[in-house]
Amino acid sequence: MSGSALRGIDAHCHFDLYPDPEAMIRNAESAGVAAIAVTNAPSVFPHMVRFAAQHEQIHPALGLHPELAVERASELEMFRSLAQQTPFIGEVGLDGTKDDPEHRAQQRSVFSEVLRVCRSAGGKVLTVHSRRAAPEVVEMIGAGFPGTVILHWFSGSQSTAREALRRGMFFSVNLAMLRSRSGRALVGMLPRDRVLTETDGPFMKVDMRSAVAEDVFSCLPGLAKTWNVTPAEAGSIVLANFARCLHS
Ligand code: MN
Repeated sequence: MSGSALRGIDAHCHFDLYPDPEAMIRNAESAGVAAIAVTNAPSVFPHMVRFAAQHEQIHPALGLHPELAVERASELEMFRSLAQQTPFIGEVGLDGTKDDPEHRAQQRSVFSEVLRVCRSAGGKVLTVHSRRAAPEVVEMIGAGFPGTVILHWFSGSQSTAREALRRGMFFSVNLAMLRSRSGRALVGMLPRDRVLTETDGPFMKVDMRSAVAEDVFSCLPGLAKTWNVTPAEAGSIVLANFARCLHS
């Protein structure tokens, strides 16, 4: 299906991790939500491409999640070859939750190769995980990255966020962030032209259930309040930001 008016953006959704991925994609599209359909391993990407076929607002992304950096390291070669097929890359990044130096080293090695591939191709749109590793993620991406970087569910410090902003990065914000004091403080310091919405569905919970892509609309009242605009205006700002992500 195509031609339905675009009304919302889910910059980070794991459609493949719901029991019926294709139904979730149809629902998102009927609601007018464009999405970056992230995957956690290269071998999953071809399935996502199949799920999203005929849905032009659902953008399959090639990923290698940091928490899978050891068990899926053998898929790096597949990552390199599939990267030629799509501008969308994610979920990638670093995760510092587990205190395991060897795992961290392997994560860094995978993420550094991911970044090398993206730099050499240019024009990629990355959705990046940085839980408990934000300074290192921002440092590794560096300045002058030739593409678009979206920091997803960012929970780092405001000084790291400022460094990311100086380097041109975007932030995808979800309802859980807008419901937390630290998340609202972060959103309050972000220039409105760097903010996108996301669900991280099905991982983020909304009122005890797994979030779905259409839940991005629930972010708009919070963003509207922060920006002192109407929810409809907040929605238009997010749509315009996403359009810039795709063309910068
Ligand atoms: Mn995720």
